[in-house]
Amino acid sequence: MPQQAPVSVVGLGAMGSALARALLRTDHPTTVWNRTPSKADALVAEGAQVADSLTGAVTASPLTVVCLLDYDKARQALVPAADNLAGRTVVNLSNGTPRQAREYAAWTADHGADYLDGGIMAIPPMIGGPAALILYSGNPDVFTSCEPTLADLGTCRYLGADPGLAGLYDLALLSAMYGMFGGFVHAASLVGTEQVSAADLVTLLDPWLRAMLPSLTEAAAQIDSGNYGRDVSSPLAMQATALANIVDSAREQGIRADIFLGLRDLVDQAVAAGHDHDDFSSLIEVMKAARPSS
Ligand code: NDP
Repeated sequence: MPQQAPVSVVGLGAMGSALARALLRTDHPTTVWNRTPSKADALVAEGAQVADSLTGAVTASPLTVVCLLDYDKARQALVPAADNLAGRTVVNLSNGTPRQAREYAAWTADHGADYLDGGIMAIPPMIGGPAALILYSGNPDVFTSCEPTLADLGTCRYLGADPGLAGLYDLALLSAMYGMFGGFVHAASLVGTEQVSAADLVTLLDPWLRAMLPSLTEAAAQIDSGNYGRDVSSPLAMQATALANIVDSAREQGIRADIFLGLRDLVDQAVAAGHDHDDFSSLIEVMKAARPSS
């Protein structure tokens, strides 16, 4: 068996520990570091080496995977090792914005290191299996050289040379997910005002959402073409009424309507802008108008 590539993991929260564990399972010599050292104990029992300093972790392996709460912490954590980064590779899997990823890439480049940014579309128990999708962006040659190791963390999807792309896609996917979960919490609150359990709601909601899901393909085609299907069966003016009713019923039933206030207002603006006969996807025209005019 060829020797697996050594990897250091900085950050041993729920996700960093899962990443380290996946590397250990696939026989990578794995060095770990965490601000709170006791979180390394279980991993040491599973075969990890623990570094006594951040610099010790970074210098133990050519590749360091960073997984901290956010970018500021991920960047601050590496500052003590800045003079030891030259010739090494940093893969940052902490959640953040595209701008933060680009700034982190520039900072590591200033210190002579290669950088890949990543977005984890999985929860810790999925890490190391094919269902764990991990998005990457940054220098393509660096990705190619790291891919055999990164593949042991989950399914890799490389998105392009701009280091901001992984964060962009990550936050786009999370936006759709939080839209669904936010809608679910609103729905559960609404039926809960009449003592209907969330479990009962899910028996109707699950098939309803599944029935709606295929319509994303058509909505995507409308958005990409700019043709929002005038005179569709569910025109935006009708949907504006439903959203107004969602807000009003929340207030009547005594729950908060906040999750839907912004959406209702955007739909009203799109109707006022002339999209009343268009499909829901025409809402993107109002969203685009919020772009800075640079
Ligand atoms: P946790 O809250 O479990 O762990 C947070 C980590 O950040 C710990 O290692 C913690 O160290 C460290 N940390 C926090 N503040 C500082 C600081 N000021 N200086 C140094 N280290 C600090 O989070 P997760 O592991 O779950 O998440 C890590 C990243 O992974 C996040 O960006 C998250 O968005 C992303 N992610 C997580 C998923 C999940 O389901 N958990 C799913 C997809 C992505 P300490 O132990 O000392 O507090």
